[in-house]
Amino acid sequence: MNQEKKIIENIPKKKIIKEGDIVFGKVLNVTDKIAIIELQTTNKNQVLTPSTTAILFVSNITNEYVEKASDLIKKDDIVKVLITEKDKYGYKVTTNNDGLGVVKANCFKCKKPLNLNTTQIKCLYCKTLQPRKVGKM
Ligand SMILES: [Zn+2]
Repeated sequence: MNQEKKIIENIPKKKIIKEGDIVFGKVLNVTDKIAIIELQTTNKNQVLTPSTTAILFVSNITNEYVEKASDLIKKDDIVKVLITEKDKYGYKVTTNNDGLGVVKANCFKCKKPLNLNTTQIKCLYCKTLQPRKVGKM
């Protein structure tokens, strides 16, 4: 086995994020108006470059009226987002499309995993209703 070749093959490939890309992210914080998302990739052989955060505005969560971003997205949710814009402040993303949105989430009260494959998302343990803008893996 060629040791050098093996080492080179194991270096993660850089993926440069651009407008139009669909990527995953972890929600770092949610306010009424925005969610701040740390962009990630599920492919272990890729690293996102630059490693960065993105902003999801409340108006870009879904095509229905949403009063507060925190109504449909919670901190620590894993979301699938579309990169719509990059300006000097960073990336802007949307979940307003089929398949985009929360793909993995835990109950914000008891931290147990939520089943997102249901129309009314409810924690099976503490019975709290937890609406989300759900996406598909
Ligand atoms: Zn719960």
